[in-house]
Amino acid sequence: MDAGEIPDRDECASFSPAVRHYWLNWSNIVRIGGVIYQKWREVKSEQDHLQLLVPAVIKKEIISSCHDTAYSGHFGIKKSVQKMKKYFTWYQMTKDVRIHIENCVICTKSKNRKSKTGLVDYRVGYPLDRVSIDVIGPLPQTQRRNKYLLVIGDNFTRWMEVYPLPHQKADIVAHKFVMEFITRFGIPLELHSDQGSNFQSELFNAVCGILEITKTRTTPYHPA
Ligand SMILES: [Zn+2]
Repeated sequence: MDAGEIPDRDECASFSPAVRHYWLNWSNIVRIGGVIYQKWREVKSEQDHLQLLVPAVIKKEIISSCHDTAYSGHFGIKKSVQKMKKYFTWYQMTKDVRIHIENCVICTKSKNRKSKTGLVDYRVGYPLDRVSIDVIGPLPQTQRRNKYLLVIGDNFTRWMEVYPLPHQKADIVAHKFVMEFITRFGIPLELHSDQGSNFQSELFNAVCGILEITKTRTTPYHPA
């Protein structure tokens, strides 16, 4: 690469499949300011992109930031890869993305939920008409001592917010709901939750009462 010359075939034969993959694609590999990119033309838009050839150590971080964050929206495999390809590439990126998404707690949870609720589709008329709230966990503790995820989703827009929590008691759940969600998005008309004691607590009921939010919940015999 330094000399700008392609190594010969025999030299490459002993290297990993990844190296051989790039060797075959040599004419599209460029180096700009010490960083290696691959030239790539998007078929549909015919737009040219320079994809960063991502080093192995930050692959996971790249996938996470493109899939897991509140702003990336937990897209499926195809959409996630489409989005990532505009900026990044690495050998077998699609496969890594697939594995990541198949193991994504939030995607798995919402997938199971969708198939179970089958009969009822709550896609009502406007944003904030109906918002669902749920706590996932316990999960492995993070460095910041969080073990739970508070997931709040708008049933109409399908926008989802996720907040890490150290525990799942009613006070912290209510605090996050008001200070993080309501302050940014507004007060929902209806709030749907499961049987969780945090959502059925006096404190949480009081908060909903003051804000005039109608609470609904899944019934014990027909859990959604
Ligand atoms: Zn996901």
